[in-house]
Amino acid sequence: MSFHFIQKLPTPQEIREEYPMPESCAKIKKERDREIADILTGKSDKFLLIIGPCSADNESAVCEYAERLAAVNEKVKSRLVIVPRIYTNKPRTTGDGYKGITSQPDPEGKTDFKAGLIAMRKMQIHAAQVSGLTAADEMLYPENWGYVQDILSYVAIGARSVEDQQHRMTVSGFDVASGMKNPTSGDFNVMLNSVYAAQHPHSFVYRGFEVHTDGNPLAHTVLRGSVSKHGSNTPNYHYEDIMRLSDMYRERDLVNHACVIDTNHSNSNKQFRQQIRIAKEILHSRSENEEIRQIVKGLMIESYLVEGAQKIGEGVYGKSITDPCLGWEDSERLIYEIAERV
Ligand code: PEP
Ligand code: MN
Repeated sequence: MSFHFIQKLPTPQEIREEYPMPESCAKIKKERDREIADILTGKSDKFLLIIGPCSADNESAVCEYAERLAAVNEKVKSRLVIVPRIYTNKPRTTGDGYKGITSQPDPEGKTDFKAGLIAMRKMQIHAAQVSGLTAADEMLYPENWGYVQDILSYVAIGARSVEDQQHRMTVSGFDVASGMKNPTSGDFNVMLNSVYAAQHPHSFVYRGFEVHTDGNPLAHTVLRGSVSKHGSNTPNYHYEDIMRLSDMYRERDLVNHACVIDTNHSNSNKQFRQQIRIAKEILHSRSENEEIRQIVKGLMIESYLVEGAQKIGEGVYGKSITDPCLGWEDSERLIYEIAERV
């Protein structure tokens, strides 16, 4: 019953120096950060699409996926900004199970955070190089921001972390779009309080330093559905949910009223194929009501090369080992449809 100190980890600066972001990718990131910021601030009416596997468990499959996205992106980039979901740290409901490439570079092997941090950074850089698309990740461990701060173009704070003060204050220092999810309970107040905290400056302790942040005006909400006290999933992507969110935004001192809707998780009850119908319903609501069109800035979709999910060890290349995902063909079709309807 104690801590066992396994190994001293390299600092973010050491890792960044050893595995630098190539100049060409840094330039792309700058442009894409601005494009995403323009969507959230209302300067651009392009639509944000964060799409990719629940967990990025395998560099080669993830890079192949990102390359396929890049080809589709070429055809839709006048209407969409596509951000690959490359999630390297996974929150688990009970703490059991695969926790992402950063803790287990080999999903069938032991935890090794040093190898994991390197695998994570190499994968993110490689995916950006082959696709020209900088990615989204969840910042499950706020102190890990420094390892990816020069790579990511979008950060999410998950449903299980959004109520936590350290997560909120850390986001207030990020200089990229940051989506604060509704908590699993579904309370919009908690989510909006989290956006408020992230949009304002803070002083706190971070990686052994006293730090001060400026506040992040690009912090916004992400609707992912909720779980009731009886354990059933309740969606929150419907017309009425979005109107309620819009009203609640207006009652608060917040800038850039914006939400992204996660079509999987408690919105689909993890019935991954329902993501297609859900995406279409949201686009329909946007077309019915200007207020909804203004506030819903994008979608988050769980998708991989092969549809569904598998257990670790089954070995299907490009199939999720965490939440079930939409397969490639359905995803590609859906992206074109979204581009046509926004
Ligand atoms: C996820 O995005 O895979 C995830 C775990 O989301 P949430 O925090 O909404 O459960
Ligand atoms: Mn998931």
